[in-house]
Amino acid sequence: MSTPMLQQIAALKREAGDAILLTRMGDFYELLGEDAVKAAPVLEIALTLRGKGSDSETPMCGVPHFALESYLPKLLLAGYSAAIAEPTAKPEEVKGLLPRAIKRIITPGTWLDDDARWLACAHRVGETWGIALLQLASGQLRVIPGEGLALLASTLERLGPQELILAEGSPDVFELDATRTPLPAWRFETERARQQILAFFGWTHLEGIGLDPHPAAIGALGALLDQVEATQKGRPAHIQGVSLELGAVGPLLDATSARHLEIFANTLDGSKQGSLLQLLDACRTRMGSRLLRAWLDQPLRERDALEKRWSQVAWLTEDRRREPLHKLLATVPDLDRLLGRVALGLATPPELGQLREGLSQLQRLPAQLSEGGWFEQARELELWAEGTPLCTDLLEELKRCLAEAPPLEIGKGEVIREGVDAELDGVRRLARDAKQVMLELEEEERAACGINSLKIKYNRVFGYYFEITKANLAAAPAHFIRKQTLANAERFTTEKLMDFEQRLLSAETDQVRLEETQFRRLLALVLEARAQLTALSQAVARLDVLASFAERARHGGWVRPELSEDRELLLTGTRHPMLEARLGRECIPNDLELRTKSSMAVVTGPNMGGKSTFLRTAALLVVLAQTGSFVPAELMRFGLVDRIFTRIGASDFLSKGQSTFMVEMTETARILSQVTPSSLVILDEIGRGTSTRDGLSLAEAIALHLRDLKGGAPRTLFATHYFELTKLAEDSRIRNLHVEVQEWEEHLLFLHRIAEGPADRSYGIQVARLAGIPRSVIATAQRILSQTPEPSILKPAKRRAEVIQPALPLFDLEPDPLREELEALDLSRMTPLDVMNWVAAKQKAL
Ligand code: ADP
Ligand code: MG
Repeated sequence: MSTPMLQQIAALKREAGDAILLTRMGDFYELLGEDAVKAAPVLEIALTLRGKGSDSETPMCGVPHFALESYLPKLLLAGYSAAIAEPTAKPEEVKGLLPRAIKRIITPGTWLDDDARWLACAHRVGETWGIALLQLASGQLRVIPGEGLALLASTLERLGPQELILAEGSPDVFELDATRTPLPAWRFETERARQQILAFFGWTHLEGIGLDPHPAAIGALGALLDQVEATQKGRPAHIQGVSLELGAVGPLLDATSARHLEIFANTLDGSKQGSLLQLLDACRTRMGSRLLRAWLDQPLRERDALEKRWSQVAWLTEDRRREPLHKLLATVPDLDRLLGRVALGLATPPELGQLREGLSQLQRLPAQLSEGGWFEQARELELWAEGTPLCTDLLEELKRCLAEAPPLEIGKGEVIREGVDAELDGVRRLARDAKQVMLELEEEERAACGINSLKIKYNRVFGYYFEITKANLAAAPAHFIRKQTLANAERFTTEKLMDFEQRLLSAETDQVRLEETQFRRLLALVLEARAQLTALSQAVARLDVLASFAERARHGGWVRPELSEDRELLLTGTRHPMLEARLGRECIPNDLELRTKSSMAVVTGPNMGGKSTFLRTAALLVVLAQTGSFVPAELMRFGLVDRIFTRIGASDFLSKGQSTFMVEMTETARILSQVTPSSLVILDEIGRGTSTRDGLSLAEAIALHLRDLKGGAPRTLFATHYFELTKLAEDSRIRNLHVEVQEWEEHLLFLHRIAEGPADRSYGIQVARLAGIPRSVIATAQRILSQTPEPSILKPAKRRAEVIQPALPLFDLEPDPLREELEALDLSRMTPLDVMNWVAAKQKAL
């Protein structure tokens, strides 16, 4: 048997689909059935049974209505979506079951938390594709058209949305953590999507935004807007338009390189901990943190824009300019999120209060920037663009109307100030007076009947009444009207009491109604000011990021980079930013000199010597510099870089079933096809995933290809434990660098210092000793090694032709399989026990 309530829930559940349904009942949001079973452990709340023992017995759990916003993150972080159902009428307006409807569906991509969340929708038409992207918090809507599946995959990966909408049945080959939301294919059809876009924005044609030549993008945008309407139950007013991004130039850094360099997340657990983003983020506002992420995602390639950012940062490195500014920014709430909540009809009175406090703080900002006679400088540097709206009118209205500390809900205290609405004031006076009159009435009747204990009481069902105990009943006055009989008392009302009760009740409902009207008017004002609020928020975010850079520069001793016309990269005293943050002074500074005429370097040296760190440092400094930040170095001078390519350890792909070597070669092929003379190429241990012989040949061929690139060799750093490759430096365009080690007795001391010239040999066995391998095992390894003849590839005597033609055999000797295996060991990924077992096995086989 199903109760009407359960039928109502079932209907709502059909609409909610996969989302967990939370239905407001009284003071709780209830979850029933499967949803309750799924959500209770996630929410850490007790699971009970509704209608226990009856036919309609159902699992149930609930959260208090005022705590909803604190429970939602748990559901969303666990990967669920949540559908919120609310009553659509008030209890006094209907008899029986309250009608209810879903007010919004919160999905991982439309959740308004502190993160910069993106909802993406991708659609393909033949070879072309389109991505539509929405950040619901700020209302930012972007469309990116493009061509080719590989570019679609890498673009999506770089954008990293939290949720991805795809047409049902379209192949999903994307390596993304995003929650997938399938929509029926017809929603992507160009004509229907076009109509949806026009309807959403109230436009008559699409020419204005230049979408017409991109049918796939139109499909993606139309379907995305469908989903927005379905989850938000309306058209959020702060989504004001679309920006079309024509990706003529790819990003400075592709997604793979960003991952290798730990720009946004570390490679160990994928969290933000230890990433460049986390290191740089000293932003005091959420808008700032979001903008910083966007800047890091798209470093600049324009000289003027960079010089401007650096000058702005330089100005802010002075503590007396930056510190008061930081104090002020720390008080500014997330304006984007507040505006988003207003537009979605979710804003509460305290949130309008936050907006008022934030705006009120911001009024001081322009003056703050020009304090100490800095006005001219600040203006010249455009730290605060002239004409940035401060939304003063909105602020004044909020100050005038909104109560000092408004309650969470209308009707639970005063939301609107006295003096705003004459009618509201009148009703309030009436309510206050009525209470006073009621007290007088009580006094009057008490005197008339002589019952000292006579009191006016109230309950929800019967309203106001006089209560007289059985013992005093005889003294009840004649004009008392009987209302209710209890075991030992009678309850009465009077004409006067009924009249006052009526007035009081209607005053209270009038008050809620009038406050609601006023509150809505304020929300409408906020929405009207949305363009100004967005501009203000962007200006604040910019300033916040610049000040954050300045703080890092100031505290880390970072310097302003210098631009050069040449394709060079000169670094003095440079440190890996994240390593330095971890090690402090123990991080060894290094120098690098890549000039136009000798733009490639081969870095050799033992495992654990610091080669990879050195390579990454160079790439990270270019990213930092071209983002507008200062850099951890004593000096950096460089010509603008158009793309950074990295090929670093492929171990993180192994779990996905592709062979290291395949991944390595795919990435390398991409680099070779896209590299230009202005690029920076970082190749770490290339060729490692295959046998020594193949690896060497490939590594060399790749180096030569880069060296002979039309227009000039790109700046390239090559780290390798094949010290055979040091012979490449016979060409003047390529030089040798090595990591310094000191041998002391039988031990190796890593100095982590980069020096000129090749390493003399590889130090695998010493490293094994360092790792704690027993002496006897090391001795055996040394014996095995000494029995193995040295390879003599790339001997100076070799003819040039053979070097350039790496397909020809490079070895004079038949390769020794044992030696190859020994060299291919990656000691940094082995435990001492692994090494011991390995050596033991080889010894046995001899
Ligand atoms: P390689 O690539 O030569 O095997 P890595 O660059 O991975 O060596 O460095 C190995 C370890 O040495 C790093 O994890 C780091 O702790 C340390 N290291 C590297 N470079 C430095 C440096 N400049 N200063 C201090 N420690 C360093
Ligand atoms: Mg390495």
